[in-house]
Amino acid sequence: MFLQIERGANTFLFLDPGRPQGSRQARNQVARRLALAVSLAALIFGAVRLASREHPQALPTSILGFSQLHAAVEHQIEELFQAVPSPDRAREWHRYLTAEPHPAASERNNRLADYIAEHWREQGWEDVTLRKYDVLHSRPRSVSLEMVAPVKFAASLREEPYDVDSDTKNPRVSGSYFGYSASGEVTAEVVYAHSGNPEDYELLRKNGISAKGKIVLVRYSNPYSYRGFKALTAEREGAAAILIYSDPAEDGFRKGKVFPEGPWGPESHIQRGAITYDYIVPGDPLTPGWASVPGAKRIMPAEARSLPKIIGLPLSWRDAKPLLENMDGPEAPKEWQGSLPIKYRMGGAVKVHMKVEMDTSVQPYTVLEARIRGSDLPDEWVLMGNHRDAWVFGGVDPSSGTASMLELTRALGELKKRGIRPRRTLVACSWDGEEYALTGSTEWGEQFAEDLKKKLVAYLNVDESVAGAATTAGEDGLSFDASAVGSLAPMIVEASRAVRVPNGKTLYESWRATHMRDSHSKTLPGDDQLVETHIGSGSDHTVFLNHLGRPVVGLGFTGDYGVYHSMYDDQYWMSHIGDPTFEYHVALTRIWGLIALRLANADVLPFDFGFYGATLNHFVAELDKRSHVQQHLDLASLRARILEFTGEGKKLRDAVEVRIARGVAAPKITAALNANLMQVESNWLDGNGIPGRPWFQHLLYAARYTYAHLEFPGLTEAAERGDWAAAKEQTELLEQAVRKSTELLRTARAAWERQE
Ligand SMILES: [Zn+2]
Repeated sequence: MFLQIERGANTFLFLDPGRPQGSRQARNQVARRLALAVSLAALIFGAVRLASREHPQALPTSILGFSQLHAAVEHQIEELFQAVPSPDRAREWHRYLTAEPHPAASERNNRLADYIAEHWREQGWEDVTLRKYDVLHSRPRSVSLEMVAPVKFAASLREEPYDVDSDTKNPRVSGSYFGYSASGEVTAEVVYAHSGNPEDYELLRKNGISAKGKIVLVRYSNPYSYRGFKALTAEREGAAAILIYSDPAEDGFRKGKVFPEGPWGPESHIQRGAITYDYIVPGDPLTPGWASVPGAKRIMPAEARSLPKIIGLPLSWRDAKPLLENMDGPEAPKEWQGSLPIKYRMGGAVKVHMKVEMDTSVQPYTVLEARIRGSDLPDEWVLMGNHRDAWVFGGVDPSSGTASMLELTRALGELKKRGIRPRRTLVACSWDGEEYALTGSTEWGEQFAEDLKKKLVAYLNVDESVAGAATTAGEDGLSFDASAVGSLAPMIVEASRAVRVPNGKTLYESWRATHMRDSHSKTLPGDDQLVETHIGSGSDHTVFLNHLGRPVVGLGFTGDYGVYHSMYDDQYWMSHIGDPTFEYHVALTRIWGLIALRLANADVLPFDFGFYGATLNHFVAELDKRSHVQQHLDLASLRARILEFTGEGKKLRDAVEVRIARGVAAPKITAALNANLMQVESNWLDGNGIPGRPWFQHLLYAARYTYAHLEFPGLTEAAERGDWAAAKEQTELLEQAVRKSTELLRTARAAWERQE
């Protein structure tokens, strides 16, 4: 930090709420504060110029959506903010959070809710509230698996302890189980079905092998495919049960050193997880589409579309290997061979007895919320969230994110203690039951749907803040992953220039370098390539984007990581292998906070619809390339509408830039513009939802059953099944929505330009 500001000098510009802002007295006060801000700004600019000589990449002075004067003030606030988070504090939070297993509905996870609530109050956050939802939960009573032929073998279904890591000896660690597995008992022949995708069963059929009535053994796969899709596919194939194991090819010794020497999964690591069909409808399976508050209507479990009917268990490769090596059926194709030193076969000879007894009952989940009320615009909310529940200790998933969040709330609370309130309201949430069906965030989103649709500027999600090993990442460090709707991509790139990462570079520089490295490119990416604008599911942003039509952002550092959802995803992994200095935790806190502060303090919300339009154009091209839509359906008109939208987006962006470069615009005109800007994302909602999945109401974004991203879901799914009449209907819906938003941008610009 290069500038120290005395306490008392920081209260400029941001009025306390409740003060009559229109009064003459208040205006005079604003004027005095502005004068003070100008002199401070001069100081800052001087400091920035000095800093620029040392660091050519130092802070630019302008910020998207801010007048020059407010940008200067914002930089100062951000300097104060960035000075607060500390790696040592992040390490302390992390140690406490990961000290015990804390799955949803456990006593420990509820204790952590109280712990975070206590600290949020201490940090100065307001309205700290615990919200309880009674939801259908799922946990194991007893599970077992034995091979009965051709040889006897009992699977341990447990993970091995290591002396160097005492947490791995904790007797409260669970064994193997899948959330929402059905209960049952079966003895049947085992069939190896590779990744468990529909095309794998096709290949089995071609080899005369049916999965019907069998126990299918499949692998976790790379690229990632959600285990709940593997379960549904097995169910549809008529399988009696599903076993999913971690092959060393995906996350074990084939990738590098295994735990506790390295970041990859050792032989007994088990990837637990839910197999819920939450890609159809997430949240409490018994209250699909509405909040599970007291007195809410509940459907019967048998009616719940998101509950699997198949029984299943996850396996370590240590438990899966005896099954694989005793098969004597036809040899599996080359692509199906994994990294165990055996011949992988499609089936034959192996018979297994398995029993799964689940306790599936209604349990309370706790969502924790808190806010710092905005000084000027308390009814515009910037929401930050992270889930709290973990399969075991949650070293990466999610407690790295929770540790980063506690430093974030501490730093934002520190600003408030110094008299600096955000202009808009900041809201923080600690979600519960994300691991089960994105449950806490979904119920909360459904409960406050009407408010959120009107007030939510954006939701900034961090699930895992550091899901990679800094110790194996090389000199460019961990990769930075940011995903967002197109409108927010440019402001995220801009904010990344103001944050430093552990190697001393700006996040922006290191982001570009790691992007080049990871994409095996020889040239640095352009700014327009950095943010991932394809958004899948599998975390708490889902309800806000897909159900409520609000803009979302997701952030995290990634790299080598092979202990996902296992016992080894713990404090030892993080403090010896992942982020031993905890500096990445802090870097994530900083970028998260800067994005939040800029959204909260901007004069004009920094949504770039020119950029959003360009991403939509790109999505159309990708869809056409993949499914050859143009051969069946003319997309020219949709493309033309998107070009109009892009053009209007650019014009509005330029008009805003020109006007606010001259100074702050009249509050009334700015407020009207911001209201229009917030409306655009809502215009993508269709109350009927996408065909077959009414809960998913966004016309541009949904997720595939694998959780993979899916753009223009209605159109894409119709095109992929060759239903061109439905595809045409969907294209028309899209055109209408794009036209509506173009019109909105045009009206907004006219009103904005009339202020001259
Ligand atoms: Zn997570």
